[in-house]
Amino acid sequence: FSVENIRNFSIIAHVDHGKSTLADRLLELTGTIDKTKNNKQVLDKLQVERERGITVKAQTASLFYNCEGKQYLLNLIDTPGHVDFSYEVSRSLSACQGVLLVVDANEGIQAQTVANFFLAFEAQLSIIPVINKVDLKNADPERVEKQIEKVFDIPSDECIKISAKLGTNVERVLQAVIERIPPPKVHRKNPFKALVFDSTFDQYRGVIANVALFDGVVSKGDKIVSAHTKKTYEVNEVGVLNPNEQPAHKLYAGQVGYLIAGMKDVTEAQIGDTLYLHKQPVEPLPGFKSAKPMVFAGMYPIDQSEYNNLKSAVEKLTINDSSVTVHRDSSLALGAGWRLGFLGLLHMEVFNQRLEQEYNASVILTTPTVPYKAVLSSAKLIKEYREKEITIINPAQFPDKSKVTEYLEPVVLGTIITPDEYTGKVMMLCQARRAVQKNMMYIDQNRVMLKYLFPLNEIVVDFYDSLKSLSSGYARDKAHSVGKAICERLKDSLPRQLFEIAIQAAVGSKIIARETVKAYRKNVLAKCYGGDITRKMKLLKRQAEGKKKLRKIGNIEVPKDAFIKVLKTQ
Ligand code: GDP
Ligand code: MG
Repeated sequence: FSVENIRNFSIIAHVDHGKSTLADRLLELTGTIDKTKNNKQVLDKLQVERERGITVKAQTASLFYNCEGKQYLLNLIDTPGHVDFSYEVSRSLSACQGVLLVVDANEGIQAQTVANFFLAFEAQLSIIPVINKVDLKNADPERVEKQIEKVFDIPSDECIKISAKLGTNVERVLQAVIERIPPPKVHRKNPFKALVFDSTFDQYRGVIANVALFDGVVSKGDKIVSAHTKKTYEVNEVGVLNPNEQPAHKLYAGQVGYLIAGMKDVTEAQIGDTLYLHKQPVEPLPGFKSAKPMVFAGMYPIDQSEYNNLKSAVEKLTINDSSVTVHRDSSLALGAGWRLGFLGLLHMEVFNQRLEQEYNASVILTTPTVPYKAVLSSAKLIKEYREKEITIINPAQFPDKSKVTEYLEPVVLGTIITPDEYTGKVMMLCQARRAVQKNMMYIDQNRVMLKYLFPLNEIVVDFYDSLKSLSSGYARDKAHSVGKAICERLKDSLPRQLFEIAIQAAVGSKIIARETVKAYRKNVLAKCYGGDITRKMKLLKRQAEGKKKLRKIGNIEVPKDAFIKVLKTQ
């Protein structure tokens, strides 16, 4: 294929607006997959993806399309649809020259539409707005067109109105890809240079890196280097994705495909890395970042005897996902485990679900926290910690106030789109979460878009739920209310024992809330029909001793349910 006839593009959309369905139709129209089959989310391969209806790992497909007598190669690069994976999205986008921005004709522009638009806009890509689901009864494509014009400054006549479900007008989308998206700017004569925009692990073949070739040619036997790790590898196989792997002799600049080169786990082929020839080093592509976990949680086997099994399951899953970080950890109550770092809460849930589904592991996850930084107050401390600023990923390791001049926390820029009757309530909620307003605009007659800078910790667990309900009161002093709520929930979910259990929430050494699970009084006297008083006393004493023993061992069976309830704040 001459470069002129290649188009590299992505589909971006808010969750459920129809990205996967549109991808299915494009695959069918180009004959990549069989139309007679009932194709549903063909590119979503993981079980969790199908169940949750989200794309976790990007899947790529090369499509062949005939337009006015010319054969085109269209590389569809699927991107994860969730905010947790925005770095992955940005890397996938840097392999593209254009995007299809899909918006639901009924729901209109949503928060993820805005976030994804700006990722594409910053990457200076051609943006083709596609209004989907025009077949729905409540569809209002004209209103959505106006929103697109207002928020993104894209003339409404550029919008393509389709039904991905029924296939209506989808051919128009393919034509627009050819007309409006430029071919990649690449040089086949330059030395080989490729971007790794995704990687997966195969038990038998090792790491399969998805690559976009910016320059040159690569073929089997070439010696290549990872710009990030500086390790050298020999290429075993290259090929294209249709969407399944199809080996080829060579990959040329402008093409997108896969490459296998004996990399042992995905940390050796990190997203955003550049590959080049050992003989001809080049300047790496800009924008590489190592994965930076933003949500941390403790993970423990429900039963300590499961520790080794869980360990190997976690290892296997992290081979596939280099963005999860693993530190060993232990807890008095839960025994040996790990502190895991994730990109976000969804990422954490997906990881947990994959552990359960693919490895049959059953685990306890503790309340997620975000990383904090503490700026140390004295030279002596700086020497002791060997750093001026320490990062804290575990609340149990929070340094004492006296050692610290300043604490720093991660913040995120959030977009909220709401019907205007809720604007007041939404703003109150944001204020209660210590958010700072950055922007507010009407995107149509009765919809408002708000932008806030949020402390990540304030939104990581339950913000979305609160936003959705907006019914509960907003407590100012959160420590007390959160502490009380957790104690109450634990009280309700812990089974009674033979002894009393005190549940306390503490900030530092100060107890801020307390609940008691009453002892379950085993009726030891049931068998002594009234009878002899000394025997009664003896039995009561024995029971008291029994209680003492149990309490000392602290043998409370904490059901998994209790942990999950505590984890879900408010
Ligand atoms: P994604 O999350 O953006 O990948 O969205 P999906 O492609 O999974 O679609 C979400 C839901 O919307 C699914 O139930 C689809 O069947 C449905 N859907 C997608 N496109 C259309 C459409 O054009 N019309 C209608 N009525 N439903 C659609
Ligand atoms: Mg999808």
